[in-house]
Amino acid sequence: MKIKQLPENVINKIAAGEVIERPANVLKELIENSLDAGANKIEVFIEKGGKRLIKVKDNGTGIEPDDIPKAVKRFTTSKIFSEDDLFNLETYGFRGEALASISAVSKFKLISRTLGNPVGYELYIEGGNIKHFKETGCGIGTSVIVEDLFFNIPARQKFLKSDRTELIHILDVFSKYAFLHTDKYLSITVDGKQLYNFYPSTLKDRVLNIIGKENEKDLIEIEYEGNIGTIKGLISTSSYITKKKYIFINGRPVRNWLIQNTIKSIIGDNFYILFFQFPSYFVDFNVHPAKEEVKFVKESSVVSLIKGALNENLNKFKSISYQFKKE
Ligand code: ADP
Ligand code: MG
Repeated sequence: MKIKQLPENVINKIAAGEVIERPANVLKELIENSLDAGANKIEVFIEKGGKRLIKVKDNGTGIEPDDIPKAVKRFTTSKIFSEDDLFNLETYGFRGEALASISAVSKFKLISRTLGNPVGYELYIEGGNIKHFKETGCGIGTSVIVEDLFFNIPARQKFLKSDRTELIHILDVFSKYAFLHTDKYLSITVDGKQLYNFYPSTLKDRVLNIIGKENEKDLIEIEYEGNIGTIKGLISTSSYITKKKYIFINGRPVRNWLIQNTIKSIIGDNFYILFFQFPSYFVDFNVHPAKEEVKFVKESSVVSLIKGALNENLNKFKSISYQFKKE
């Protein structure tokens, strides 16, 4: 038996399994790319829970014509250049595999134009095979249109949940980036109907828009500086109907049981949205392709930071509410 290198489109199809499990993962990668490109206006369009269509249009820098075909190749990135950069990440992307993976498992169109070009270019790829690359009229920025996700992997397509469930995951991703980037315009249109249309606003405004305005009275603002890092955000003093909680570290949405459990041990099942900031040496994001899992240099420092922030602020709040009751 001879050993052979697999063709690139087969490699991409295999790798797509790691990065892209469902439509929400596609949306995450596309929004992150738009943010990395400096966009301050991001419009999302979804059809049938993202199974039929996921489209993200931005007003970022755009991609130079000769870079467009490179952008969809594996391990090609404009964001990091050396190993050192891995420990000082300033962009969401750095692995250079999202577009390669997505275009291997969908009908994929990328339309982009940079400031210096009078026209834009459109690249169309079906299941990893380039079908056309041509000039097109468009504004400055990039649109990525992903249709019929997993059309060429029926086994995966079958594992997608109902449109409704996939949409819940999509809205979760959209909300997280809307919370992270309150200074930017973000909108999402689902099956022709615009669900959210966020103009620059405060975090509290955006959060209440999503979790319901009736929750306003229970929210308190947190701002705390500890030895190893800082925490900012909002926590609720009562348990909401929404069971959602949001954790962000250094500007990325993450899942982390250590943080979750520590918070839970102090405030129970209440709502919170917290933004942690640590020095870059202290957190490793390169644990999983989706970068949603992190490793800390010292877990006990994270626990003390949370305890410090919550205890200090909860005490403050209790005394205020106590005064109100007396009046
Ligand atoms: P990564 O984000 O890890 O670099 P991607 O596969 O997501 O890898 O994207 C590959 C490259 O394509 C990026 O490094 C960037 O140069 C370019 N790119 C992708 N999306 C956009 C966008 N919306 N605007 C400008 N450039 C983009
Ligand atoms: Mg990317």
